[in-house]
Amino acid sequence: MHIKKLSPLLANQIAAGEVVERPSSVVKELLENAVDAGATRIQLDVERGGTRLIRITDDGHGIEREELGLALARHATSKIERTEDLKAIHTLGFRGEALASISSVARLTLSSKASTASDNSTGWSAIAQGQDMAVDIQPRPMPVGTIVEVRDLFFNTPARQKFLRAERTEYVHIEETMKRVALASPQVAFTLKHNGKVTKRIPAAQSEEQQKQRIGSIVSNNFLSQSLVLDASIDHLRLWGWLSHPDFHQNSNMSQYVFVNGRAVRDRTLNHAIRQAYQDLLPTGRVPAYVLYLELDAEKVDVNVHPTKHEVRFSDARQVHDFISRAVSDCLLSQGEVLHAEDLR
Ligand code: ADP
Ligand code: MG
Repeated sequence: MHIKKLSPLLANQIAAGEVVERPSSVVKELLENAVDAGATRIQLDVERGGTRLIRITDDGHGIEREELGLALARHATSKIERTEDLKAIHTLGFRGEALASISSVARLTLSSKASTASDNSTGWSAIAQGQDMAVDIQPRPMPVGTIVEVRDLFFNTPARQKFLRAERTEYVHIEETMKRVALASPQVAFTLKHNGKVTKRIPAAQSEEQQKQRIGSIVSNNFLSQSLVLDASIDHLRLWGWLSHPDFHQNSNMSQYVFVNGRAVRDRTLNHAIRQAYQDLLPTGRVPAYVLYLELDAEKVDVNVHPTKHEVRFSDARQVHDFISRAVSDCLLSQGEVLHAEDLR
């Protein structure tokens, strides 16, 4: 047996195996990049459930021509520089892997015009291609911002292609992914198109009232009208958001959203804490709905746990758990009863 170094393409494809599971995983990475770039409007166009095309257009700060190639290179990022930076991550991305991974399993074009470019200058497109991951750069007139186009996902990785589901299923995952990112970034307007038709429009929320409307349109108005408002803090921890009244419940956990410092997570500690607070209030087999935002010192939560960054690790998990469980429980008991009393009148 001889040991050989993997080609850059193969190395990227292996990395892609961890983060690019299906079209919605591509959408997640690209939406997060647009948010990190300070975009205020993000448009997402997908065709055939994202298998034929995923195009994300943002009005963020863009990428300079000289850096387009680097943006597509593995382990290249503008978001961190030193080991210390890992102690407190303030952006959604930091691994410098998404674009390289995606470009190894699809046909990717990255086009951008940097906010630093002069008004009459053009934008540029970088097209990833081939075995050596070389990049071809061409002019493309466009406004300031970035357009990423991902075509024919998994065209060169049949093993993954086999796992793609029906167009409708993949589309539903994409919409769900967009909802999560939209809930995490209320200041950003989102539009989603599927096969040329607008399927979801989420305007930016400036005021509290608009923020509420947004929750209604993303989660459901039914949820919003029966939800309790929560806002609690101790020390460096703050938890706020909307919780379903114990009388309102669903039998699937579809509408459960938790964000930690603006990042959608699926965390056992958090889920357990919330479940515990609802424990004796819900009929068996029923689950609550919620949109909750946990804010804490970036230094007290490690997001560098898993490539997809869905999981986090708290430096004081016990304190976080107990705080959340108590905050949710207090909210349910106090406001829940008030609501009952009003209902009786
Ligand atoms: P990461 O997000 O972890 O840094 P990516 O591979 O997703 O890694 O992106 C690489 C780099 O490309 C980013 O660090 C950023 O500088 C740049 N980039 C990617 N997408 C955008 C975008 N939509 N707008 C501006 N810059 C972007
Ligand atoms: Mg990224």
